[in-house]
Amino acid sequence: MCGIIGYIGQNKALPVLLDGLRRLEYRGYDSAGVAVCDGQEIITVKAVGKIVELDKKISLENKSLQGNVGIAHTRWATHGKPSLENAHPHCGCKQEIWLAHNGIIENYAELKKLLEKKGHKFLSETDTEVIAHLIEENYKDDLKIALQKSLKLLKGAYGIVVMHAKEPDTILAVKKGSPLLVGLGDKETIIASDVSAIIRYTDKIVYLEDNEIVKVNKAGFKIFNSDYEEISKEIKKVEIDKNEIEKSGFPHFMLKEIFEQPKTITDSVRGRLVLSEGKVKLGGLESVQEKLREINRIIIVGCGTAYNAGLVGEYMLEEYANIPVEVEYASEFRYRKPILDKNTAVLAISQSGETADTLAAIKEAKEKGVLTLGIINSVGSTIAREVDAGIYNHAGPEISVASTKAFTSQVIILALLTVFLGRQRQMSFITGKRIVEEIENLPNKINKILKQEKDIKKIAKKYYKSKNFAFLGRKYNEPLAFEGALKLKELSYIHAEGFPSGEMKHGPIAMIDKNFPSLFICPQDSVYEKNISNIEEIKSRSGKVITTATVGDENIKNISDQVIYIPKSLEMLTPILAVIPLQLFSYYMAVLNNRDVDKPRNLAKSVTVE
Ligand code: GLU
Repeated sequence: MCGIIGYIGQNKALPVLLDGLRRLEYRGYDSAGVAVCDGQEIITVKAVGKIVELDKKISLENKSLQGNVGIAHTRWATHGKPSLENAHPHCGCKQEIWLAHNGIIENYAELKKLLEKKGHKFLSETDTEVIAHLIEENYKDDLKIALQKSLKLLKGAYGIVVMHAKEPDTILAVKKGSPLLVGLGDKETIIASDVSAIIRYTDKIVYLEDNEIVKVNKAGFKIFNSDYEEISKEIKKVEIDKNEIEKSGFPHFMLKEIFEQPKTITDSVRGRLVLSEGKVKLGGLESVQEKLREINRIIIVGCGTAYNAGLVGEYMLEEYANIPVEVEYASEFRYRKPILDKNTAVLAISQSGETADTLAAIKEAKEKGVLTLGIINSVGSTIAREVDAGIYNHAGPEISVASTKAFTSQVIILALLTVFLGRQRQMSFITGKRIVEEIENLPNKINKILKQEKDIKKIAKKYYKSKNFAFLGRKYNEPLAFEGALKLKELSYIHAEGFPSGEMKHGPIAMIDKNFPSLFICPQDSVYEKNISNIEEIKSRSGKVITTATVGDENIKNISDQVIYIPKSLEMLTPILAVIPLQLFSYYMAVLNNRDVDKPRNLAKSVTVE
């Protein structure tokens, strides 16, 4: 969670810090703050709420934030409410050491007691403030040594940027379990938790590993390993189209990202389909290709939308690759006793590649010595580097907190993986070819659905005042019921639940009345008739029904209040089409309810705390 940025260079720090915060805001937006050093003292401004509030406060307070060195933070509160006192950067008693932190210090209460006994006075409820006082306690005349000493006592996860008024030309940063990278510009260095805050200034990036400390000053940077020896690290060139992190005329990133999907699907499969052989080529899996032949069980771990994508993958892989699959919430995986053997692979799905729960699950799987795989969107991210092999989504940066294009790219990658593993096993050339051919048709079909945007908005107008919503589907589209409900909840704050259609009669149908609408995902597939019966059951109880149906299915109008049509496709690929109306529906439900679409309350994009 949270966005961290630090700047040191020949230009004024403040504009870079504020621009970085705006780009990182999707990671957390409870409160924000900056600390700038003008060579003598460190001046801070903080505000509760989004970055605009901080902007206003900076103009109002008229403090001199003119220095060339500074740090900033946008918070996703874990310890202590979103308030001015709890906003970062935090300082020690003497207000000389200032730091911003991402993550959780698990032993903060114990450390706080210890420091209070030594006379430290705390001003906030955060776990973070403990780090500042601890460094202060350890400080003699060298911030790096004080930081090193302090790190030995910290338990938990962190990305930290820190500065000291007595060393005005230096910023130190360190990470453990949460992302931090260093951008090397022209006579300037920027440290940030995400490349999107850096890319405007430079494409030269150094990724920090856990426990590495970077010391930056105007002359350059030095990196030290956990034994505090100076090390040299590879400078990577990142390739991100700068337009990808702009809204390009759309009112929200979410709508832009929904409309990008024909392109992102194309990008995800580019160079990977081998039509003539009915198979797919996945460069990222080449190193483990032979090992994959031996795999007879896959455990998919993910959270939220990625978990739902995993459930679609479960249907695909079992039906077409004959591999038993279990999908686990990553947050639960390491707290059970996963029974893993050498023929099991654990597959992590994460858009950011930084999801703390998923990372922890992968580390646990590695501990057990099994093959770990990843489907990750963010190139070079922690999970991408941690797994044995993986497949990048190539969907481009996803800025809207509610995931859309990452979901469809995860599902398409799972389809590619299914063909890859299936063709290693019993899948015939013909079946492989049929799937690969249909994958190529998907972008056009998505475009056809996107053309119904206005009709979907009209439907949302009928329902936006609803207090409850059910989403229902079967087989491949059962996970879409969960995804549809998740999208509506997170964006519009309307209570929504997703069920397999057949489950309704086992309890949830008791809730249905004329004020409790349902949305059925009901394409003409192998479970169509069963779904129709379930719609009838809802209609008999006066429930309103919106249906997502296959083009040409006129009969379904007789039992639906509204119908949204999607083109026909292979059953296993219909979720990629059927999710588009759900995304647009949730988007407009949120807009009509005046919600902050790209930054729903209480959420953050990259969930880097457990
Ligand atoms: N645990 C810290 C806090 O609650 C940092 C949270 C964050 O990552 O934004 O302030």
